[in-house]
Parts: sequence; structure tokens; C-alpha cells
Amino acid sequence: MPATLLDGKALAQTMRAEIARRASDFARTHGRKPGLAAVLVGDNPASEVYVRNKRKACQEVGLESWLHRLPEAATQSELLDLVARLNADRAVHGILVQLPLPKQIREDAVVRAVSPLKDVDGFGPENLGLLVAGHPRYLPCTPFGIQQLLVRNGVNLDGEHVVIVGRSNIVGKPLALILMQKAPGANATVTVCHSRSRDLQDITRHADVVVVAIGTAHFLKADMVRPGAVVVDVGINKVDGKVVGDVDFDAVQHVASAITPVPGGVGPMTITMLLHNTVEAARLQAGA
Ligand code: NAD
Repeated sequence: MPATLLDGKALAQTMRAEIARRASDFARTHGRKPGLAAVLVGDNPASEVYVRNKRKACQEVGLESWLHRLPEAATQSELLDLVARLNADRAVHGILVQLPLPKQIREDAVVRAVSPLKDVDGFGPENLGLLVAGHPRYLPCTPFGIQQLLVRNGVNLDGEHVVIVGRSNIVGKPLALILMQKAPGANATVTVCHSRSRDLQDITRHADVVVVAIGTAHFLKADMVRPGAVVVDVGINKVDGKVVGDVDFDAVQHVASAITPVPGGVGPMTITMLLHNTVEAARLQAGA
């Protein structure tokens, strides 16, 4: 029997309706909408699409959104000046600097410059530190979305063995921190694998939940999955003009008990959690 689909598109729609209600409550109480400022440097076509989708999603749930563009040749200090202005602007509750940045700009310097209360991507050292310490403020959007997709589909994580393949700062590493927290919807036993891990198949085959975030099309094969395991595919790859994930979906769906599709799985959840964090940021900054 094919696995149950973990439908990120449907869950994102439900959660965006909840977020829209909270955004409109905020606007009624405080006389202004929660607001997200996006910063786009240069003309990377993928970044253009990501930012456009994020702004469209903001409008759909009743958030204010602004786009600040800087040219490809912008200097680090020009970008830091813009971030400082947005940090000081009381109408801006969340700041999103779209990555990657041109090579003359140090990403870590920019990420650190965003006010921790406006760091709705959750990438800055203060928010990551709070997560490590077990008192999270804003969770990074993709791993937060993965957790919600699992928990709200009734996947029990408590005491389960989750194997994460990929240790990036935006997906694998923060996901491990989120799922190992002593908290409802977490409490998992987490193993993180990466490009230097030996005997990967032996590790993934022992997982109750496997998450793959490496960026290699069809990487996770059916013989790497324990029958009945839950599989989350974070990958976005283009093969012959088609978007596919890191999981060999056609084969793995016959082994797993539940699986996320690509597209329509993790992707729609990522933007949803950005909207969620922006409303949280507005409430925190208003002292609500
Ligand atoms: P990254 O390139 O920063 O990191 C890739 C990780 O995979 C590294 O930690 C590396 O060690 C590991 N890796 C690479 N090859 C491996 C192998 N053969 N075996 C084990 N580990 C291996 O990638 P990222 O930014 O985390 O993105 C990963 C994928 O997820 C990409 O396809 C990206 O497009 C996608 N992504 C999707 C979303 C979404 O919202 N759906 C968000 C972020 C990233």
C-alpha cells in the first residue's frame, strides 16, 4: 500500500487562515498590520522568485510587506546601513535578507546585524542560542515547518529515532535542535548525518523518521528506509525541467508509512512559518 501523503499545501492553507486571524486581531488592537521588510541584493532569479512568493503570501494573510532592493555591486556597509534603518523603523516587525548575497558581502555580518527581535528567519546568533538553551523565540522557518508538518499530521516524535541527512545551518542543524528539545512535539532521539558519514544506509534503515536535506535528486532509495518509517523530503532539484526532491519517491512510497511530496510538502510550510514568526514578532515588539 502506498504511503500516506503528508500534504504541506493543505496544512499551509489551514495554518495561514489561523495566521490571518491573528494578524487581523493585531491590526485591530494596535492600529497597524504586522510588517515584514524583505531585502533583495542583486538579481539572482531564484531569489527574485522566493521574495515574490513571500510578499504575495504576506498580502494574502493581511501582513504589510516592503521590498528594498540594492544593486549586485552594493557594498557591505550599504547593506548594513539599510538593515540599521529597518531595525529602527517601528512599522517593520520582521526583516528578511534574502540569501545568498553577492560575494563582496559577508553573510554572517549581515545576519548578525539584524535586530534579534526582528530576526524572523531565526538565523541570528541570539535566536539560535535561545533554541540551544531550550528557550526558543523564533524557530528557523524550514525546520519549524517540518516539525509542524509531522506533528499536525499525528506523527509521534516522542522517543522516536529521527535520522536527518544534511547538516546545513538552515535545515539539518536547527531541525536537530528543534526535535531534540524537551518539549511537546519533540523529545526525539536525533542522529545527524552528512557527506562524511560512513555506512549511511545502516543509519537511515534504523530510523522511525528520515529527513533528507542534501540537494541531490532521488538520493534516498527504498533499501535505505525501514518498512513503515516516515520520510520527509526537503530537497528541491530540477531534473529535465521538473522539480523533484532528494527521495526516490516512486519507490520509497511503497516502503514508507507516510511521505512528503515534492513539490507540495515542506516548501509551502517554510513560507507559512515566516508569516507565523512575523506575527509573533509584531506581538513581542508591541508587548502583547
Ligand atoms: P546545503 O548545500 O547547505 O547542505 C547540504 C548538506 O547535505 C551538507 O550538510 C552536506 O554534508 C550534506 N550532504 C551532501 N551530500 C551528501 C551525501 N551524499 N550524503 C550525506 N550528506 C550529504 O543544503 P541546504 O541549504 O540544507 O539544502 C538542502 C536541500 O534542501 C536543497 O535541495 C535545497 O534546495 C532544499 N531546501 C528546501 C527548502 C524548502 O523550503 N523546501 C528550504 C531550504 C533548502
